Amino acid sequence: MTLDHAARAVNARLRELPAVDRLVEAVLAGSGLARWSALAAVRELLDETRAALVAGAADVPVGLAELAAAAAARARRLEMPFPRRVLNATGVVLHTNLGRAPLARGALDELLAAAAGYSDLELDLETGRRGSRTTRIGELLRLLSGAEAAHVVNNTAAALFLAVDTLAAGREVIVSRGELVEIGGSFRVPEIMAASRARLREVGTTNRTHLRDYRDAIGPDTGLLLKVHRSNFRIEGFTAEVELGGLAALAREHGLPLVEDRGSGSFIDLGPEGIPESDASSGLRAGADLVLFSGDKLLGGPQAGIIVGKRALVERMKKSPLARALRVDKLTLAALGWTLRALAAGRASEIPVLQMLRASASALEARAEMLASRLRAAGVPRVTVEVGHSPVGGGALPELELPGAVVRLIPAGSANEAVRRLRDGDPPVLARIQRDALLFDPRTLADEDLEPLVRRVAELAR
Ligand SMILES: *Cc1c(COP(=O)(O)O)cnc(C)c1O
Repeated sequence: MTLDHAARAVNARLRELPAVDRLVEAVLAGSGLARWSALAAVRELLDETRAALVAGAADVPVGLAELAAAAAARARRLEMPFPRRVLNATGVVLHTNLGRAPLARGALDELLAAAAGYSDLELDLETGRRGSRTTRIGELLRLLSGAEAAHVVNNTAAALFLAVDTLAAGREVIVSRGELVEIGGSFRVPEIMAASRARLREVGTTNRTHLRDYRDAIGPDTGLLLKVHRSNFRIEGFTAEVELGGLAALAREHGLPLVEDRGSGSFIDLGPEGIPESDASSGLRAGADLVLFSGDKLLGGPQAGIIVGKRALVERMKKSPLARALRVDKLTLAALGWTLRALAAGRASEIPVLQMLRASASALEARAEMLASRLRAAGVPRVTVEVGHSPVGGGALPELELPGAVVRLIPAGSANEAVRRLRDGDPPVLARIQRDALLFDPRTLADEDLEPLVRRVAELAR
């Protein structure tokens, strides 16, 4: 069989590809990269290039220099720690894309101690018998929430999944159409429900749901009533929703459990600081049988799904085989334990999320002035300080704006190009854009962030 012209051309280009060893040496030359990563990157790149050539792609680079540069970028990525520390100058305190709550020093110390050695994670030191990893955290959660029982799983999505799957298996979960939310792109209430053994029963409309909508839907198949917090949006105008208290009376009347997915909450009231609906226990007081919320939102701890409420319900959930699959690890328990003890001891001021949310406008203005003068001293032109309200909520606290101050900078070129360059370097910097200006919000910057931030921004001016 004779090769046609095109196949011959492909073969010629395949033969042009450099050998693995030669390409690896080219990647290593003066790059500071390690052989393991260079070799892995080169093999992967050559495989992909060969496949693209065979598939008939015309514009695939096959030269040594181009391939070496592409492989070096891949090798660098392989060697780069992940997740990488970034400087958050956006002012958004709880940003899912940025890892939500930074942990307190004390939580980090306990996490490190738990991680570095063996521990009594599932051992009762008094009796020498096997213990449960969540007993102690449950005691703290009960103390803080006033609930009969508590449990912790991987995150709130897991908590909700476990709740509906356990408590409404083969039955219906009644939810308002106004609360079928999507959070962070991957958490969608209808999809969680579809993946569980429970069935979703939607009631009401997007903007209005009444108590009678819930009442009319209740029947022999009903497993539980669910109320989901609209964490990242608001519905305004001609609206109606049923508060927990009203639902609680209905649930009791029919002997049904009422579950509140509130998403975010803490054990202190941040109302005076302008942060509404912060108290995680308010749902229990209003009559919910279970309340679910995240450890890494307002609570200021590690990622976790906290479950507080009625003992009989929590015990059923703990006994589900899913509970084992959704369990938290020792690092989470260590960091969460510290965070809960800090709240119990009245040391909320040590929790970074709360420090940032409670930072006073005057303190933020002083920090913004300090940052601005350091930027000017580093040769950065067109820097001013702006005082006003800024959005600190992101997806976790909708439309929450708190008084603060920002450093405003007009870059030489486009603002989009400037934020791209800031994101690209080391450490990466994330700033807000306002028309042709960049805004740097000191609220979410730690003291040790300021020096590298000034250095990165000064690079822009060069
Ligand atoms: C954030 C949020 C979730 C998801 O929480 P994870 O801990 O990220 O799984 C679920 N429900 C509500 C209402 C939320 O705000």
